Amino acid sequence: MEKTDIKNFTLSELEAYIAGKGKERFRAKQIFKWLYQQDAVDFAEMTNLSKEFRQELEKTSWISNLEAEAVEASADGTKKYLFRLADGNAVESVLIPDEDRTTLCISSQVGCAMGCEFCLTGTFKLTRNLTTAEIVNQVCAVKRQEPVRNIVFMGMGEPLANLKNVIKALKILTDPDGFQFSTRKVTVSTSGLVPEMAELGASVTVNLAVSLNATTDEVRDRIMPINRRYPIKDLLAACKAFPLPSRRWITIEYVMIRGVNDSLDDAKRLVRLISNIPSKVNLIPFNEHDGCAFQSPTQDSVDRFHKYLLDKHVTVITRSSRGSDISAACGQLKGRLDKKNQAEV
Ligand code: SAH
Ligand code: SF4
Repeated sequence: MEKTDIKNFTLSELEAYIAGKGKERFRAKQIFKWLYQQDAVDFAEMTNLSKEFRQELEKTSWISNLEAEAVEASADGTKKYLFRLADGNAVESVLIPDEDRTTLCISSQVGCAMGCEFCLTGTFKLTRNLTTAEIVNQVCAVKRQEPVRNIVFMGMGEPLANLKNVIKALKILTDPDGFQFSTRKVTVSTSGLVPEMAELGASVTVNLAVSLNATTDEVRDRIMPINRRYPIKDLLAACKAFPLPSRRWITIEYVMIRGVNDSLDDAKRLVRLISNIPSKVNLIPFNEHDGCAFQSPTQDSVDRFHKYLLDKHVTVITRSSRGSDISAACGQLKGRLDKKNQAEV
């Protein structure tokens, strides 16, 4: 009989599993705390469970884990972790330290099917979805090394194309008996899968980031094929309807690409488009990579765009390309081992 990986369970699923073995439901909470608060890797560590119960668990289930195969460190403190999965595939997570609010950027898929023109992950197509365990194990592995304050689903893959497992991972991340992340500290980023946005909002409380990246359907159709299915108007309506944690805004991500979407007219259209959505804008200067002809915007056009938004009282930050020297910046993840800069772990 194949053993069950208990890291694929949310707390309520684990409770049902435990109940099936004739045990009290609160035992599931104890196990959850061992897994996500005490970093347990073995049932033997769970000393508040009887020996007989631990042996019974061991017979039918197991605890999966990920270990970083490589960690690359950027000059700016950003770290990129490469995780080898059981089937030989690999994904990357990026730790971005900041004064007292270190953020871990995690992956939800091996590759991505969305095919955005500007994104390196997209050029690798979709290999497969990550399991719930593979998603949360990225957090377990990094948290064992360094404190993590925020989680963003902005690594490899489109989280809402792997909705079931992403929702389960979100439940584990925010469960008071699990990782205990506040819902205000966890953000899911999507290229704009409209029906799944509604389902996500109905299932969990979480911050939402939306990769808008264009201000006309003509341009968005070209750089993000998903727009042909869910055009800007539908996407923004879904943003407006999304139930955020209290006092939060939707993050509108806007990758600025030279000569494509970086004009002052774009800035003007952007202000109009988001005027009735509680939002803040993240401007991300395009990070160049091999195999894509797009270019980074000039500093002048970024400054002009940023200033126009500020003048119109839009909350805006321009993201610096942290980790670009180790290909860890937005859109540069590919889940392969780059020999240069590789540190021993
Ligand atoms: N699939 C999700 C989350 C992962 S991508 C999404 O698209 O939202 C995370 C962010 O990186 C997105 O906002 C995306 O627009 C941005 N991005 C992708 N390629 C980029 C590049 N080459 N330079 C800068 N940002 C990029
Ligand atoms: Fe996929 Fe996001 Fe990259 Fe688009 S930007 S290809 S949705 S990972």
